[in-house]
Amino acid sequence: MSGADPDAGAEVFTGSFTQQEPIPEAAIEAALAVLRHGRLHRYNTAAGEIAETALLEEEFAAFTGARYCLAVASGGYALGAALRALGVGPGDRVLTNAFTLAPVPGAIAALGAIPVFVETTADLTIDLDDLAARAPGARALLLSHMRGHICDMARLMALCDAAGLPVIEDCAHTMGAHWAGRHSGRWGAMGCYSTQTYKHMNSGEGGLVVSDDPALMARAILLSGSYMLYPRHRAAPPPEAFAEAKYVTPNVSGRMDNLRAAILRPQLADLPRQCGRWNALYRIVEEGLAGTPGIALIARPAAEGFVASSFQFRLPGWTAAKVGAFLARAAVRGVELKWFGAPEPQGFTSTHRSWRYAPAQALPRTDRVMAELIDMRLPLTFSRQDAAQVARILRAEIGAVHQADEADVAEFVPPAAD
Ligand SMILES: *Cc1c(COP(=O)(O)O)cnc(C)c1O
Repeated sequence: MSGADPDAGAEVFTGSFTQQEPIPEAAIEAALAVLRHGRLHRYNTAAGEIAETALLEEEFAAFTGARYCLAVASGGYALGAALRALGVGPGDRVLTNAFTLAPVPGAIAALGAIPVFVETTADLTIDLDDLAARAPGARALLLSHMRGHICDMARLMALCDAAGLPVIEDCAHTMGAHWAGRHSGRWGAMGCYSTQTYKHMNSGEGGLVVSDDPALMARAILLSGSYMLYPRHRAAPPPEAFAEAKYVTPNVSGRMDNLRAAILRPQLADLPRQCGRWNALYRIVEEGLAGTPGIALIARPAAEGFVASSFQFRLPGWTAAKVGAFLARAAVRGVELKWFGAPEPQGFTSTHRSWRYAPAQALPRTDRVMAELIDMRLPLTFSRQDAAQVARILRAEIGAVHQADEADVAEFVPPAAD
């Protein structure tokens, strides 16, 4: 094995791992209609008109089976609004997954609350035993379904209910997914979603919050910047729910506008079909990698109705040098991977070690999992042939590095991420 050059004649993948599909024509038409009438602000409506934003909230509530829905400016804003609606404030200890993305501990820290990380299983979900151990004294759990992996939600809710711990779900990677037939985001007190470009619906930036709790949702609506126009919301609690809250809930403006809502409504109508397409790509990669020596695939429980817009696998026992060699060789063959074991944060990828606004914690199980963890996007611009080719390349390069001596791989360094 020499250098990171692919063997002569080896196939190279030429697709882009960051290219999403274009916005559907129906959404472009809807966006143009909003641009032409100019009423982009959600409360700027003509007589008899129902704002696109209010319609999106109604449709997303119906999609998830929630009583109430609020559309906001981003997924991170949704998390912050949910925490504030629960009354989380300075000094509160909020549990969250150690394996997640920066906006999750960021939403906690932004309130002056203290992120407390919970360990990660080899299947990339929250460690429920560690959660039980850390529950005493915590104010809430901000549960992140990171990369679409869903833990045993019945067990988690039983545990949190017994501990009196309210649960907010971060569903940035589980829009359209289920556990035991119940939508992700519908198990806890509030569910938060993102419609940022890399998630399951694309409005550039955007977020959604769902809940069945009138008091929580009234506060979230007021927080988002509804002024006294909350009766214009449709998927909202009745005016009584706002009677007290309207005097004591600060405005932290973060509304969604009608342009984004117009872009999202046709995408929501098509979401089940898109979820099916993602899962078809996922199963092709999974099949292509099954049985590869040196690899551990992530188990997908029968109760998990996942939506796989990305693919993860582990390389158990691999040293950093070997992982680095593999990443470099895959990159040369056009396959862009992320590694959560890198010492420095890169691109979108960071770990608890670089979230220094949170108290440092020893998280040996999570560190071990992340040192072995490889992460890959699966955008819908990939064809089934693309997915099969990516799997072939991964399989070949895992094989090449797995069999190599440690001395041969020491020269490789991980490629820079975007
Ligand atoms: C993207 C993301 C968020 C927040 O979404 P934004 O819309 O980018 O603020 C939250 N959690 C996870 C795990 C994410 O990947």
